[in-house]
Order: sequence, then C-alpha cells, then structure tokens
Amino acid sequence: MSPADDLPLVVLGAGYAGLTVAQEVDRRARGSLPTVLVDRHPVHVLRTELYEVGRLAGGSDVSAWAVPLSKVLERSSVSYRQGTVESIDLDSRSVRLDTGTVPYGQPAIGLGSVAAFYHVPGAEEFTEQVYRLTRARQLA
Ligand SMILES: Cc1cc2nc3c(=O)[nH]c(=O)nc-3n(C[C@H](O)[C@H](O)[C@H](O)COP(=O)(O)OP(=O)(O)OC[C@H]3O[C@@H](n4cnc5c(N)ncnc54)[C@H](O)[C@@H]3O)c2cc1C
Repeated sequence: MSPADDLPLVVLGAGYAGLTVAQEVDRRARGSLPTVLVDRHPVHVLRTELYEVGRLAGGSDVSAWAVPLSKVLERSSVSYRQGTVESIDLDSRSVRLDTGTVPYGQPAIGLGSVAAFYHVPGAEEFTEQVYRLTRARQLA
C-alpha cells in the first residue's frame, strides 16, 4: 500500500464528465473509495438544455437548469469541495484552489472545454458561446 492509497480520488469539475466519474466510481466502489468533487460553483448546470432557458419569460426561474450539488450527491459518499482550481502540483500530489489545497491519491480532470472555430469565416464574430446560465439568461 502506498501513501497515496489513503488519499482521495479528487475529481475536478462537476460538469457532465466530472459528475459521472465521481458518481460511477462511488457506485462501483460502494462508497469505499474517498472521493472529493471540486467545482467553483455549488451547482451542476445542465449545459445541453441551456437553449431552453430562452422559453422562460425573462429567464427568471432557472432552478431546472442548475441542480445543487448537495442535492445531487446526497445519496452518495462523494463530498463536494467548492473552489476554483488554480494549479496541480504533480510532485506533492495536490490541487491548489483559491480556497485552499486538496491532496489527492488519484486525480480526474473534467474542467470542460471551449469552442474551436477552425478559422471558419464569421464563426467567432457571429455565434454565441453559452457555457453558463448567466449567458443563457442574457440571450432569453
Ligand atoms: C446548448 C448546448 C447544447 C449541447 N448539446 C450537446 C449534445 O446534444 N450532445 C453532446 O454530446 N454535447 C452537447 N453539448 C456539449 C456538452 O454540453 C459538453 O460536451 C459537456 O458539457 C462537456 O462536459 P464537461 O464535464 O467536460 O464540461 P462542463 O460541462 O463544461 O463542466 C466543466 C465544469 O468544470 C468547472 N470548472 C471549470 N474550470 C474550473 C476551475 N478552474 N475551477 C473549478 N471548477 C472549474 C465548471 O464550473 C463546470 O462545472 C452541448 C453544449 C451546449 C452549450
């Protein structure tokens, strides 16, 4: 057993990828592997459904698109840690957040992606990138 065996699986990002990894590992390990899910926001945003926010008058009730992580994780052994990931120190096996440091045994990185435009003329200037509820509400 190495020292890292005592440390948690630390999953960075509570989007579709990170949340699935954390929940699936927890399910398969039956809660025996300490798992920490890190995200800067305390909610899981249903990104693929954000275009529907436009159907709301004024985009007021957005609760259907942002589920509190405390609720999503309430039946699991996964714990949530709020913070923005600033760096990962491979030597000390730790993640630096703006709210502190989290040591990991194994890391999983699911911090998302941004659109690529592949030099398509006009694509960057004339398209909207919707990653969060705030932007979806502005377009509603
Ligand atoms: C309108 C729309 C429709 C889509 N439809 C489809 C579809 O039909 N089919 C399909 O396959 N894909 C679709 N996609 C793409 C899909 O949403 C993405 O592929 C998917 O969300 C990627 O998941 P992810 O977990 O990698 O990243 P994300 O869902 O972006 O999650 C990343 C998480 O990391 C967190 N994070 C990022 N940086 C930091 C940091 N530094 N510190 C702490 N936390 C951080 C974010 O808060 C976020 O919670 C759609 C996207 C949109 C916007």
